[in-house]
Amino acid sequence: MQVLLLSTYDLGHQPFSLASPAAKLKSAGAAVTCNDLAVDSLNEDAVKGADLIGLYLQMHTATRLSVALLPRLKALNPKAHIAFYGLYAPLNADYLKSIGGDSFIGGEFEDGLVEIYLDLAESNPSAGSDLTSTANLDFDRPLRDDLPSLDCYAHLNVGDGSTKIVGYTEASRGCKHKCRHCPIVPVYQGRFRIIPADVVLADIRQQINPKSGPAAEHISFGDPDFLNGPRHAMDIVTALHEEFPEITYDATIKVEHLLKHADLLPMLKETGCLFITTAVESVEEDVLRLLDKGHTHDDFKRAAKLAQEIGLTLAPTFVPFTPWTTKQGFRHLLDTIAELGLVENVAPIQLAIRLLIPNGSYLLDLPEIEPHLLGYDQEALSHRWQNTDESVEEFCSQIQEIVEIGARDNQSRIETFKALYKATQQACGIDTPTLPDLQPLPLLTIPAMSEPWFCCAEPSQEQLSRL
Ligand code: SF4
Repeated sequence: MQVLLLSTYDLGHQPFSLASPAAKLKSAGAAVTCNDLAVDSLNEDAVKGADLIGLYLQMHTATRLSVALLPRLKALNPKAHIAFYGLYAPLNADYLKSIGGDSFIGGEFEDGLVEIYLDLAESNPSAGSDLTSTANLDFDRPLRDDLPSLDCYAHLNVGDGSTKIVGYTEASRGCKHKCRHCPIVPVYQGRFRIIPADVVLADIRQQINPKSGPAAEHISFGDPDFLNGPRHAMDIVTALHEEFPEITYDATIKVEHLLKHADLLPMLKETGCLFITTAVESVEEDVLRLLDKGHTHDDFKRAAKLAQEIGLTLAPTFVPFTPWTTKQGFRHLLDTIAELGLVENVAPIQLAIRLLIPNGSYLLDLPEIEPHLLGYDQEALSHRWQNTDESVEEFCSQIQEIVEIGARDNQSRIETFKALYKATQQACGIDTPTLPDLQPLPLLTIPAMSEPWFCCAEPSQEQLSRL
């Protein structure tokens, strides 16, 4: 029995979510091929020979790319069982079924894929199954032999002109919080699941000492929130640092946890943490309340100052355009970023992101969203919405264009920020804009990935051309 696991896009890193189920499927007896279309072309022979094709849908862009890929897979192999797995699989199960999907597995998907494989091996196809689960699983060390080498993926710009090869792993999945806009919430509903420390460390070890190809010099932890299980996280980074003191890492930690676990931050720094991604989303109290983010504007400021004192780089992410965004609010966001000295820390794309409302979003339960909803867009896989102030929609397009131009022209973050600041002041009716005194630097002076983290983009022509 041949199994093909496919990923279309996984935020610039080698997909853990191919390597982890590959290990379990192999243990169950399957012949597994992994094909990462973010960096490789489609392995047509593997498609033609597969009895089971697993398509990984961790987030929005990957789902849209997978939907676009499906007709080609069906044409090459109409008989293969198509299993969609990852967060977006159960959220879009009806639609995915209507276009030819057979099974849908959200949450902890490794055992679900094995179950389908065993059913198929016994000629007992579990067509149309929804095997979504948040049960605790046994994990095997991910099988990475079949994946492109680490240098094919995003690298780390250290901030001093040097770069590092990046490995990737996950120490937990799900989240114990319920931010309303987060696609993890409808699937995990406030639960998080840990991956045993020995498996995580074995996975890191095999990336630092690979059988072939360049070795990881930095590890990116992809946990939705690294401090959902603080003891688990600290045990792992302490062990990592003891064994590989030269290896650095980054993780994602929410503002609330940065403050609640402030005592752990020095140890993160000591064990090699180079930067922390933190989902701030907004600096407006009413928007933070509607999103149920669990922090305030002042909390963000306190967390930023705390990180600065300890010497930990913070990489804040935002969802600046929501149904409740105002131009003054956006100006307040830019002012806050400048005031906190975080201009270089924010990837410009983070200032152009528009709220995405997928199926199952907890935002849909909010009375305040109703007046803004315009119906579900099947192709875009999201609920369309509009700001009540139409001029904010135009302003959003203007901001997105400035960010696109900045990326196209390879502008520094500071240059793009200044262009955004100027446009925002003009949009707010300030005729003679004053710009913050920021000197554009030729190089980014903080650590950051060569590919900024965001998951809700339109698939690009380049991505589509690889399908
Ligand atoms: S803390 Fe982060 S991962 Fe958890 S629900 Fe909120 S946005 Fe999602």
